[in-house]
Amino acid sequence: MIKSNTHPSIADSTIRMNKKKNIALIAHDHRKPDLLDWAEFNKDLLSQHNLFGTGTTGSLVADKLDLKVHTFKSGPLGGDLQIGSAIVDNEIDVMIFFWDPLLAQPHDVDVKALLRISVVYNIPIACSRSSADFLITSPLMDAEYHRFIVDYSQRFKDPLK
Ligand code: PGA
Repeated sequence: MIKSNTHPSIADSTIRMNKKKNIALIAHDHRKPDLLDWAEFNKDLLSQHNLFGTGTTGSLVADKLDLKVHTFKSGPLGGDLQIGSAIVDNEIDVMIFFWDPLLAQPHDVDVKALLRISVVYNIPIACSRSSADFLITSPLMDAEYHRFIVDYSQRFKDPLK
């Protein structure tokens, strides 16, 4: 069992991540070819985990890799928010999210919400191909890991803490 290091005043609880991770895959339209290529290259590693995705991304990955991918709604139709909700419910451990740095999205607010909630729950996220490479090849992907959760409720009591 691996525990990340931090001071108890910073984080006071942990969430257990199993050896087999629940990985969310999301890509904006112009980033889908890159994500599909990355997923194909890493098929063997990805096949050891449970895969999830927004509607279109998830279906494309399932077809290309011939693996089971649980799909949520398409991103612009609420899929990003569904994945955010799954993160809150501890149903997603890791997120690979190739968002488009050159194009505003109709659901930009949902994208922002998803990125925010992934930080609140301290899940590993990769938004570029190289970070996705580092993440998927980490030894922690194949180990039980307890990630710390910051107790933000303290802030509401005393904003200076
Ligand atoms: P999609 O959604 O996989 O359904 O295209 C991705 C997104 O835009 O968040």
